[in-house]
Amino acid sequence: MSWKTLDDMEFKGKVALVRVDINVPVENGQVSDATRIEAVLPTIRHITSAGGKAVLLAHFGRPRGKPVPEMSLAQIRPALEAALGQPVGFAGDCIGLPAKRAVGDLNDGQVLLLENTRFHEGEEANDPEFAAALGALGEIYVNDAFSASHRAHASTEALAHLLPACAGRLMEAEMRALEKALGNPERPLAAVVGGAKVSTKLALLENLVAKVDHLVIGGGMANTFMAAQGREVGNSLCEHGLAENARAILARASETGCRVLLPVDLVVAREFRAGAAHEVVAECPGDAMILDAGPESVAAIKTVFDACRTLIWNGPLGAFEIEPFDRATVECARHAAELTREERLVSVAGGGDTVSALNRAGVAGDFSHISTAGGAFLEWMEGRELPGVAALTAER
Ligand code: AMP
Repeated sequence: MSWKTLDDMEFKGKVALVRVDINVPVENGQVSDATRIEAVLPTIRHITSAGGKAVLLAHFGRPRGKPVPEMSLAQIRPALEAALGQPVGFAGDCIGLPAKRAVGDLNDGQVLLLENTRFHEGEEANDPEFAAALGALGEIYVNDAFSASHRAHASTEALAHLLPACAGRLMEAEMRALEKALGNPERPLAAVVGGAKVSTKLALLENLVAKVDHLVIGGGMANTFMAAQGREVGNSLCEHGLAENARAILARASETGCRVLLPVDLVVAREFRAGAAHEVVAECPGDAMILDAGPESVAAIKTVFDACRTLIWNGPLGAFEIEPFDRATVECARHAAELTREERLVSVAGGGDTVSALNRAGVAGDFSHISTAGGAFLEWMEGRELPGVAALTAER
C-alpha cells in the first residue's frame, strides 16, 4: 500500500482541507455523543501545531443537495471548540465567496469549519466542478473520514485527486488495522460474524469464507444456517428463504478449507425479554426461540480463538441487549481481550452493535482496534475497495 500520512506533509503556512466525519448525534441542540469529534482531534492538532491552517469539510445528516437549516454544521461548532480547546471559525457555505473569505482570514494554527458539504448536489454526485471549487480553497487534502470513505463523494474521492493528499491519524489507524486483520493477516485467522440477519451480511460471509481459516457464525443468523441444515429452530428469528444461500456458503467453505463453527448448544426461551425463563438445549423445542449460544459453544469458540493469531469480529453471538442472553458474546469478547492483552492475538472489531456489545463486556479498550466506521467497515469486510481509500492510494 502506498499512501501518505500527516508525517509526509509540510503544513507550515499551508491551508489543509481536512475531510472529517463529525456526523454526531444531536439531542435538543446538544451533541449527545462526541466520540467522532474526539476521534479527529489528533489530526487537527497535528496540522495546527505544525503551523498549518485546518479547514474542516464534513457532512451532517441527509439534506439531499440543498441547504436544510436543521442540518447545519453550525450546531456542531460549540462541541468542536470545547473538544479542541480553541475557537473554530465557521463559513456558511463550503464553496464560493463565504468560504474563500473565511479561509483568507485564517492565521497559521487556526481552525475553520465549513458548512455541510451535502448542501450541494455536487457532493454526492462526486461532481468534478464542485470538487474543483473545494480544491481551490486549500493546498493539501487530508482524509480523516474512513467512515465516509465507502462513498465516492466529491469531498472523499474527487478532491483527493486534485491536491497532494494524505490520510489523517484516524484514517491511518483504520487502514493499518484493517490491512493487518484481513489484507495481510498473521494466520490462523478467525472471523466471528453474528447479529440478526444473514440477508444483511451475505456479501460479507461470501468474502470471508474465501479468506479466513475459521468462521464462527452466531446470533440470529446462525439460526438460518441451522435451519438450512435441517435443524429445528422453533420460533427463533430465522430467514427460511435464505436456506439455499446458507448452504452455498457452507459448501464454498468446505471447498476453501474454511472451518465453520455453528452453535453446538443453545440457550432457548419462550419470551424475548430480560430475565425470561431459559434453558440450555442441544436442539430447539418447537415452541421456543434461540436467544444465545450455550456454554459448549462458548468453549469451542474460545478454543478457536486460542488457536488463532488474528480475529475479526462483527455482530453479537446472541440477543446481547437482554440478560442473560448476552453471556456468549460477553464471555467470548472477554477471552479475545485477554488473548490480545497477552499479545497472542490481533483483534479487530467493528460495526454498530458490535461496539456496544464489546462495551457491555467492558473490553472495547482491550481489542487491538475497534472500528467506529459502521457501513465502511462492513464494506471492507465484504472485500470491496472503498473509493475514498482507493483515491488516497492512487498513483498521482
Ligand atoms: P446486527 O445489527 O445485524 O449486527 O444485529 C444485532 C442484533 O441482533 C442485536 O440487536 C441482537 O439482539 C440481535 N440478535 C442476535 N442474536 C439474536 C437471536 N438469537 N435472536 C434474536 N435477535 C438476535
